[in-house]
Amino acid sequence: MTQRYQKICKNGHQLSVTYRGTSDPTEFCPECGKSVISTCQFCHAPIEGWDEPDGIVYLGQRTADRPNYCKKCGQPYPWTSLIISTVIELLDSDEEVSDQDKTLIKSAIPDLLVDTPQTKLAEAKFKKGFSKVSILVKDSLYNLLVDVLSDTVKKSIFPN
Ligand SMILES: [Zn+2]
Ligand SMILES: [Zn+2]
Repeated sequence: MTQRYQKICKNGHQLSVTYRGTSDPTEFCPECGKSVISTCQFCHAPIEGWDEPDGIVYLGQRTADRPNYCKKCGQPYPWTSLIISTVIELLDSDEEVSDQDKTLIKSAIPDLLVDTPQTKLAEAKFKKGFSKVSILVKDSLYNLLVDVLSDTVKKSIFPN
C-alpha cells in the first residue's frame, strides 16, 4: 500500500484524497476561497488520505474520511475548531439562554464530534441545554452539526 494524503480547505471541503505531497499546497478552495491544507497546522503531520494498493489497477472511487482531530498530536483541524467556535458564537447570540445552559452545550460539543466514553454524557448535556434555546438557534445548530455527527449521536440528540 502507498499512503496518499488529503487536500482539504480550512472550511472542511475535501478536494483530494490522493495527494502525493506532504506539505501544504499553495491553493485556495474553489468552493469557498479558503486556503487549502494538507497537514496538521499544529504538528505538521500530513493528513492521511487514500491508501493506494500496490500492483493492481484500482478502478473504484477513491475516498477517505475527513478526520476531525490530528492523529499525531490530537489537536482539532481548522474545520473542527470552526464548528466549535461557531456553536459558541451562536449560543452567545441568544440572550434568552442562561449561562448555565450555554456551558452545558459548549462542553458537550467536543465529545459529540468523536465517539468517546463521554459521548453518552455529552448527549444528555446537549439535550438539556438544547431544549432551552430559541427555534432560530436550534435550526442553526442543527444545520451546523448534521453533517459532522455520527448517525448514532444524531438520532439521540435530534430525534425528529
Ligand atoms: Zn472550501
Ligand atoms: Zn497534529
